Amino acid sequence: MTKTILVTGGAGFLGSHLCDRLLGQGYAVIAMDNLITGSTDNIAHLIGRDDFRFIHHDVTEYIFLAEPLYGVVHFASPASPQDYLDYPIHTLKVGSLGTHNSLGLAKARGARFLLASTSEVYGDPLVHPQPESYWGNVNPVGPRGVYDEAKRFAEAMTMAYHRVHGVDTKIARIFNTFGPRMRLDDGRAIPNFMTQALSGQPITVFGDGSQTRSFCYVADLIDGIQRLLESDRHQPVNLGNPEEWTVTRMAETIRELIGDAPPIEYRDLPVDDPKVRQPDIRTAREHLRWAPGTAIDEGLRHTLDDFRRRFQAAPHTRTRA
Ligand code: NAD
Ligand code: UDP
Repeated sequence: MTKTILVTGGAGFLGSHLCDRLLGQGYAVIAMDNLITGSTDNIAHLIGRDDFRFIHHDVTEYIFLAEPLYGVVHFASPASPQDYLDYPIHTLKVGSLGTHNSLGLAKARGARFLLASTSEVYGDPLVHPQPESYWGNVNPVGPRGVYDEAKRFAEAMTMAYHRVHGVDTKIARIFNTFGPRMRLDDGRAIPNFMTQALSGQPITVFGDGSQTRSFCYVADLIDGIQRLLESDRHQPVNLGNPEEWTVTRMAETIRELIGDAPPIEYRDLPVDDPKVRQPDIRTAREHLRWAPGTAIDEGLRHTLDDFRRRFQAAPHTRTRA
């Protein structure tokens, strides 16, 4: 019998790559998405397969699904800071009500459950790099609080379903991930820099660009997610690439890759923008035998090929910055 996995947020950037991976491993997949920040373009190549189904549904509403499920993988949530600033209440609802509904479905079907959590649970961290044991430094009432607190609530709810109902839950704390299928106007740093360079807009670096992020290529991240899903680890696991870059270095690297790119323009740093971020991935190495293998430059080249192709088809696209 083919095992079926529900991927909420399955038409998004990460969710669609996860659908591809799970189908490739022989699972049947149901992608559920309300398309608030995702697109059916990301799963168009899967439509018509017997082992794939798309359901247009908002997971903050009750989820009706009759079939047996092997897994529920909850990726639905705006993830770009620009998106969750545009949809603050929705972000809180999908992290709370959406997580509750997804957990309830996993419990009813006896399915394993994986939550896509985030490095944002660490906020603007005072411990560096960040191990899973760090509780974080989050401003609950700042503009980013809607995302950070929704994910912190989602983690608490996930652990409660594990402890109270015995649901086989996993929590992935995902650090900045990039790759093909990110929206041209997604608003996160790498898509912004690529679309700006391709469209001749200035490259917008926020603050002085000395803040750091650790960027992971999507194929590596998805491999880590699958390993976590198959593992018996219930405590949170950091998944990300420990290679730490300043934002300016990333902007310069993308300018060089594209060639003849517009200059950098410095803008105000958004409120509560974390100053540093780097995953401590010892747990993933030890328990999942996982570490990212793709060089950042190589990942950027794959991403840029995809961005160039889509930009040619939509040459009037501009970033929101
Ligand atoms: P994305 O915006 O491309 O994908 C999110 C998807 O969820 C979209 O398709 C959106 O339409 C869908 N969605 C949102 N609310 C929904 C709802 N109520 N019902 C059904 N579908 C809904 O973002 P992404 O980068 O693919 O992120 C996916 C998940 O991974 C998110 O939960 C995010 O918090 C987490 N994450 C991503 C990163 C990253 O770097 N990409 C880092 C940390 C965590
Ligand atoms: N950033 C930037 N210019 C942009 C978009 C983002 O300098 O056009 C910065 C942002 O302020 C942050 C870093 O790049 O310091 C990563 O931002 P992103 O939105 O990708 O994700 P975050 O890690 O903040 O969730």
